[in-house]
Amino acid sequence: MQKGKINVQTENIFPVIKKFLYSDHEIFLRELISNATDATEKLKALVRSGKSDVELGDLTIRIELDKEAKTLKITDRGIGMTAEEVEKYINQIAFSSAEEFVEKFKDVDNANIIGHFGLGFYSAFMVSERVEIYTKTYKKGPGTKAVRWECDGSPEYTLEEIKSRDRGTEIVLHIADDAQEFLEESRILEILNKYCRFLPVEIQFGEETTFEEIEGSKDKDGNPETKEVKKPRIINNTEPLWKKAPSELSDEDYEKFYHELYPNQFDKPLFHIHLNVDYPFNLTGILYFPKIKKNVEVQKDKIQLYSNQVFITDSVENIVPDFLTLLHGVIDSPDIPLNVSRSYLQSDSNVKKISNHISKKVADKLDELFRNDRESFEAKWDDIKVFIEYGMLSDEKFYDRASKFNLLKNTEGKYFTTEEYREKIKANQTDKDDIVIALYASDEQEQYSYIEKAKDRGYDVLLMDGVLDNHFVDLMERKLEKIRFVRVDAESIDKLIVKEEAQVSKLTEEEQKELKPIFEKDLDTTSFNVQFESLSETEDPVLITRPEFMRRMKDMQAMGGGQMAFMGDMPDSYNVIVNTNNPLVTKLIEDKDEAHKEIVAKQLVDLAKIAQGLLKGKDLAEFVKRSIEIIK
Ligand code: ADP
Repeated sequence: MQKGKINVQTENIFPVIKKFLYSDHEIFLRELISNATDATEKLKALVRSGKSDVELGDLTIRIELDKEAKTLKITDRGIGMTAEEVEKYINQIAFSSAEEFVEKFKDVDNANIIGHFGLGFYSAFMVSERVEIYTKTYKKGPGTKAVRWECDGSPEYTLEEIKSRDRGTEIVLHIADDAQEFLEESRILEILNKYCRFLPVEIQFGEETTFEEIEGSKDKDGNPETKEVKKPRIINNTEPLWKKAPSELSDEDYEKFYHELYPNQFDKPLFHIHLNVDYPFNLTGILYFPKIKKNVEVQKDKIQLYSNQVFITDSVENIVPDFLTLLHGVIDSPDIPLNVSRSYLQSDSNVKKISNHISKKVADKLDELFRNDRESFEAKWDDIKVFIEYGMLSDEKFYDRASKFNLLKNTEGKYFTTEEYREKIKANQTDKDDIVIALYASDEQEQYSYIEKAKDRGYDVLLMDGVLDNHFVDLMERKLEKIRFVRVDAESIDKLIVKEEAQVSKLTEEEQKELKPIFEKDLDTTSFNVQFESLSETEDPVLITRPEFMRRMKDMQAMGGGQMAFMGDMPDSYNVIVNTNNPLVTKLIEDKDEAHKEIVAKQLVDLAKIAQGLLKGKDLAEFVKRSIEIIK
């Protein structure tokens, strides 16, 4: 037997490893199983290329738990190691990279980041007081005898030749007292399901019970009898869909896989994007656009990141552009740096490229859908709109790509690209300054009367009722030239699109001054600002509008816009527009009965409030009472 001391700078790194990765102890199993998978894949490759003629046989990787002996075993039938290789790969390379890892992350306090990186073989010591390796190489000839290595977490190890054993490697973990959870079958199963669901080599853990029909035997009702059968439980799907060629797959396959990924998600995805990149980096994956329900908190962290089919993490920020974190699916790339030896994720230029590329792919796919089947694209629009708007708001390049297929929907339920829409309304909705005015409603019910008035003028009204539409309207105004967006209730209809100079008012300024206090009586003047405007005779006598600028500020504040905080709680701000040309208003000036004058003014203001949905509670009750009196 050979005894040796691992050459270390850090005197005893094992306690350090333990402390560092406190919250992510479970990854030891991912590390050991992915080593076993690599060893198996390497052997397969050697045989495939004719470099070895070993009989592959059953390559299943087995996980065995022995609660009594307090051991967890991971056994593979891969390439195995010679004594020399154990010396080199385990005692030297693996150890020094573990040491490097610890050095590197000593000052990082975000344990979450650390957990996403592999620590390799030595992560076994996070949960073990002693680790044994039994291994036999696939190679033949001198120096290829089976060996046993053992280490108890101090830098000392032993390495000895043993009687022959099966080809491959068996890692025996003697689970430490403070890691007893890893002796529970349910805990191991949970970890396997998290990290190993799509590994390319079959992983077996324990057994499962199924029921099988007994051939030729029927019960008294004539139904076939069944018997309990115990079968080795294989926990993974070795050929996940993203590894297959899109041309071989049907929509049903993608849908089935979606439900395999998210067993608790009942809705069908809207559509998918199959990513397949091999230059300048390797990346495969499938992204799904989920159906987002209104008013339901958007779920992030649904994209799973894999490296060669090994689950790494489901927090993909920095890898996937922010707006795409709303999507579901998988991304698999061996080129996303997961090892410590490579540079940090955040600053990695590879990661940036990957992120940009995914964004581009998604835009290309959407563009293709739009061009090839506009009808079905439009049918999905209401559901995907939030992704696209979020993307356009947060990613300059995506804005440029998406502006070709981003749609606007009007209150008639028709869809237009921005350019199509400009063409449509240009003739009728260009104001005297040559600006195209796009009118929009944010709530079809609440703004009904305003929408109708605009339509009466032959104007088109867009429906902008999405969660991001406030911001999106701002964005479009910044990006597009000679177009302005105005909500239908922002002004009286004549002022929404000013085509010519204002009409002459039938009331003089003196008369307006005289009427103003009458309209202001009983009105909360911090929120309601009475103004006189000379509108057409047929326009309502009094209108309530919400000035566009103030309303946008208020909306932003409601959405928690950071810079808006200084404004405190802004009151709602409305304009009460008195139409100086409406006969009802002009008649008021001649009315000598002060009490009657006040009632008329009050009634007119209340009617305008009703049209904005602003008359409520006591005010509404009083309005009803007053109206009944008048009818009498
Ligand atoms: P990494 O896998 O990142 O190279 P590890 O510390 O996990 O680092 O493993 C170090 C080395 O030990 C591997 O590169 C491999 O050569 C060898 N090794 C580990 N596990 C096995 C195994 N099950 N079969 C064969 N070789 C192994």
